[in-house]
Amino acid sequence: MARVTLSAVEKYYGANRALADVSLAVDDGAFAVFVGPSGCGKSTLLRAVAGLEMISSGQIHIGETEVSDLPPSDRDVAMVFQSYALYPHMTVRQNIDFGMRVRGVAQAERERRITDAARILQLDDYLDRRPAELSGGQRQRVAIGRAIVKEPQVFLFDEPLSNLDAKLRIQMRVELEALHRQLGATMIYVTHDQVEAMTMADTIVVLNEGRVEQVGPPLELYRRPRTEFVAGFIGAPSMNFLDIAAENGVLHREGHRLADAPAVGAPIRLGIRPEHLALGTAGEGMLEAEVAVSESLGGETYLHVDASTGDRIVVKTDGETTVKAGDRISLSLPPQHVHLFDAAGQALRDPGDQP
Ligand code: ADP
Repeated sequence: MARVTLSAVEKYYGANRALADVSLAVDDGAFAVFVGPSGCGKSTLLRAVAGLEMISSGQIHIGETEVSDLPPSDRDVAMVFQSYALYPHMTVRQNIDFGMRVRGVAQAERERRITDAARILQLDDYLDRRPAELSGGQRQRVAIGRAIVKEPQVFLFDEPLSNLDAKLRIQMRVELEALHRQLGATMIYVTHDQVEAMTMADTIVVLNEGRVEQVGPPLELYRRPRTEFVAGFIGAPSMNFLDIAAENGVLHREGHRLADAPAVGAPIRLGIRPEHLALGTAGEGMLEAEVAVSESLGGETYLHVDASTGDRIVVKTDGETTVKAGDRISLSLPPQHVHLFDAAGQALRDPGDQP
């Protein structure tokens, strides 16, 4: 297993810059997730590590070896694709065996690795089937099996679960986390799904327009997003944002006092997560609102409310709430959960800091 280091990596497609000055390190044995909206460059970055895309400038190291100019086969990585990329005419065993056979691994060793991978992935009973005779989840496991028998330094996953239905996706997510623990391998995983990123990663790399926006453990990104972009991307439902004015140490929105302003900076946007708005409690920063839509998910309820400031705000509350569309409610913004951003979208203070 190995550490992966990217230094000032840039990638151009013609005049279009897909990656801009990307520098980061994925620790040996880490589970790193590259996340961001469609087109932010996460697949390009993963493919650059794999050697499927050549970078325009910068360096990539796997362990101590610089791999920037090496072909994929010399990088000691294994990639699992969204499409599975299995050979339809081969059995599961032959699919898993294929790469090892091509590389000339000895027969006994190949059999040992296939047996081990099949046990880890619970494919023992399916080794003689063809892909067409397997479920989507089983096919994805075969694709993972093919990566495992390579015994690579680094596993690379490109949105591997996006073709599975919601229930299976959750199950495979848990299985991949278990696999990571079991193998202790360095894994890099690409997804546009922030829930996958939050649940699987020990390090999340948020990308935005080819740049690294923030890197850190999931809860750090949730609690202390350094930019408005990260604040809005991590967390579901998304953080609410309000345009504000600061005056004499007080934050206003359309004449409503919301919270005390920080000592530094010029805040123009306030962020508060749906789960942090306190419903119906009297106190500082009270906002009146009317419930437009109430969505019950069973265990929790999302209230889409029209605040007296003119903003549509989402409030997450418990599944037992009796609040319904048309009800008037009041909201308060606990100061420790208020995020503030400047005109450039940079966070002005950590929530929880004393204003
Ligand atoms: P993501 O995986 O985050 O959706 P990509 O890495 O696929 O994003 O793409 C990043 C940017 O690079 C996009 O603007 C995309 O259009 C562009 N791009 C990706 N692949 C190619 C390619 N083969 N040729 C030209 N442009 C590409």
